[in-house]
Amino acid sequence: MQELTHYLNGAHVKGTSGRFSDVYNPATGEVQAKCPLASADELDQAVKYAMEAQPAWAAVNPQRRARVMMKFVDLLNRDMDKLAEALSREHGKTLPDAAGDVQRGLEVVEYCIGAPELLKGDYTDSAGPGIDMYSMRQPLGVSAGITPFNFPAMIPMWMFAPAIVCGNAFILKPSERDPSVPLMLAELLEEAGLPKGIIQVVNGDKEAVDAILHHPVIQSVGFVGSTPIAEYIYGTGCSNGKRVQCFGGAKNHMIIMPDADLDQAADALIGAGYGAAGERCMAISVAVPVGDETADRLIEKLVPRIEKLKVGPYTSGKDVDYGPVVTGAAKQNILKLVQSGIDQGAKLVVDGRDFSLQGYEDGFFVGPHLFDNVTPDMDIYKQEIFGPVLSTVRAKSYEEALGLAMDHEMGNGTAIFTRDGDAARDFANRVNVGMIGINVPIPVPLAYHTFGGWKKSVFGDLNQHGPDAFKFYTRTKTVTSRWPSGIKEGGEFNFKPME
Ligand code: NAD
Repeated sequence: MQELTHYLNGAHVKGTSGRFSDVYNPATGEVQAKCPLASADELDQAVKYAMEAQPAWAAVNPQRRARVMMKFVDLLNRDMDKLAEALSREHGKTLPDAAGDVQRGLEVVEYCIGAPELLKGDYTDSAGPGIDMYSMRQPLGVSAGITPFNFPAMIPMWMFAPAIVCGNAFILKPSERDPSVPLMLAELLEEAGLPKGIIQVVNGDKEAVDAILHHPVIQSVGFVGSTPIAEYIYGTGCSNGKRVQCFGGAKNHMIIMPDADLDQAADALIGAGYGAAGERCMAISVAVPVGDETADRLIEKLVPRIEKLKVGPYTSGKDVDYGPVVTGAAKQNILKLVQSGIDQGAKLVVDGRDFSLQGYEDGFFVGPHLFDNVTPDMDIYKQEIFGPVLSTVRAKSYEEALGLAMDHEMGNGTAIFTRDGDAARDFANRVNVGMIGINVPIPVPLAYHTFGGWKKSVFGDLNQHGPDAFKFYTRTKTVTSRWPSGIKEGGEFNFKPME
């Protein structure tokens, strides 16, 4: 059995707490590795290394820091297949999906190469007589990030790339369910020229997270994961005086207007509802067709497409649409929610409960499910299922459909499918959700825009990546300087000539 490590001060270090968690191969259900769970002392050691290394790194000019990111991009491309394979093996997603996970992280690293421009301050000449004023952005010091299992490459990179290029040291506490790729990323960063101690990976669970939240040296905490934990981390981190941004769960609605291209909408729902086994914070989990006729026609188009979906291990290659979910516990939770949907009166149109794959009977595979006649009082509507389960809520009108997206407590992403520019524009303007797609089912903003939801999908002010990340990982300092004029009244210089 492989025993994974932490990555501290440039070296793989065995855990010393004596506590471990199981890392599964979700396709077979076997435990393939043990992940060490750090104690507060181990976290403290990482902070000490970070404090030692950070001042020298902050003094490196931004262009040189950016060059490390440039080299890191090259190394990510060089090792893309290796990273994708390691990611699929622990997460279960298909290889193209895993490569996409790395790619969307890489794009933020590319954005960070612009650090010299993004960190440039402001300058006001002659703000008063002999007075100039300038603002600069300085790093915070030691930053930490706590990341979820579902994007083990992308989300760590969204955090550590801007943090590090801004001159901070960064401590990553990745998900204990798939910790190998974050360890590989830390190694690659150092191969790219990053000094030791600037990126460290401390594996762990709540104990390590609490140690981060209470450590007086750590200045900022970024979190991505489920909403209850996001709320806890935001509250605890803020009350300890840290700068905190937390991104939580989702329940993304897709409104399908009667004039929409229904083939396009159905294809979009297949990708956005079932891709990555629904384990995406931007997955569409609720389809809202407007009008019964639209709903009937949509379901008619969805069913054969769902029945064609291929579910299997990543080792089956590109033919597989999605893989297993991450753990047996995740699978049980999904099936429990499906049962609650049936019990509460929703109509199960496609039933994936009996799905089984020959040779992989112990794997955490879940067949695709489609519900119709879901209502807002049902648990499958209220809760994030995070599995291959799409709920259909029929709306009588556009206003009712809009109201559903607006009244749900989550507000990460949403989409509208329509040919009507007026409806699309009205939807984008009025809906209280952070990321909107118009005939685009998964509207994930690119690296140079920012990513973040509204309502219970976010806690904190600044979004992830884009210009917001540079604000989150720096503090502004403004200097007002006064050099009394050397010009006397009458125009003569007051300087004494140098002897
Ligand atoms: P999770 O909340 O279970 O875990 C996230 C992190 O928190 C992990 O590192 C974990 O070790 C830690 N953690 C877990 N329980 C904790 C506790 N009690 N105290 C302190 N720390 C704890 O989330 P997950 O299952 O890994 O990821 C899936 C969730 O993440 C979904 O809800 C999904 O919507 C969300 N997500 C959100 C975004 C976004 O940008 N909004 C992106 C990706 C995933």
